[in-house]
Amino acid sequence: MTTTAPLLAPELARAVALQRDRLDLDLLSRAYRMSAQAHLGQKRQSGDDYVSHSVAVATILAEQQMDSVTIAAALLHDVVEDSNVSVEDIRTTFGPEVAELVDGLTKLSTLTFRSTVEEQAENYRKLLLSVAKDARVIIIKLADRLHNMRTLEHLDPEKRRRIALETREIYAPLAHRFGMAGVKAELEDLACKFLEPEDYRALARKVKARKSEREETIERLRIPLAEELRAAGLTGYEITGRPKNLWSIYKKMKKRDKPFEEIYDLLAVRVLVNDIPECYHVLGVIHHKWTPLQERIKDYIASPKSNGYQSLHTTV
Ligand code: MN
Repeated sequence: MTTTAPLLAPELARAVALQRDRLDLDLLSRAYRMSAQAHLGQKRQSGDDYVSHSVAVATILAEQQMDSVTIAAALLHDVVEDSNVSVEDIRTTFGPEVAELVDGLTKLSTLTFRSTVEEQAENYRKLLLSVAKDARVIIIKLADRLHNMRTLEHLDPEKRRRIALETREIYAPLAHRFGMAGVKAELEDLACKFLEPEDYRALARKVKARKSEREETIERLRIPLAEELRAAGLTGYEITGRPKNLWSIYKKMKKRDKPFEEIYDLLAVRVLVNDIPECYHVLGVIHHKWTPLQERIKDYIASPKSNGYQSLHTTV
């Protein structure tokens, strides 16, 4: 009998297919095979084969356009902790870069975080950053946490609570620092889902119910805006509705003590342009046509946010 082991798990193969020119597929398939072999027979709480977790983490990173070494290390990230493969074995087979990343992740996995006091969370974030000499260790760790949060319902309630709190206080702020806005938003929403389950369900239902209404409103803003930008001679821009995650709506409701309906009317539209002068040009066009609220103009190009985020915000 002849069997041909698949070169890559299907979900990862799909994620890398569009990027095959820039990725080292041979490295990825060798890493996948070593991981599948090392985790053979191991199961997740969900009953899935353990390697499905490594593949999911690698897939998240491929979707984030990370490099081959990072994706390969993600495939191998639990191998040293959970099997008898050593960091040295990984170094011999895949070279020092992959080995260093896996070593960093193995060290991080032994750190445990017990208190949820804000100040300690800050210390813990610092500790994570200092242990990880290569920033890619933290990025893989964030993808690892994201997949664990997506599958958190399989754990017992006490573990769920601890992991969700840790996610909110440590990992979501780290994702923000690394400019991974989508990962941050999903981590926050998942933490809310497990920490405030009833509020989360009610809010999710309301957001869903108003989805088409929201899309209409964005369309109503988009069309005249596109017209003004065209008239001003701007080209190659992109106008999209800026998604607000549940957790940020929830926080605003609590902070301003306002019902969902009032918060949700605050819609945001994003205009992506080619360079900084165009960005100021668009702001000028908008302010010429619609009267801005004085207090609500923010220039994050002149003063970037602490994570390096740069843009202009206005409310009209
Ligand atoms: Mn893991």
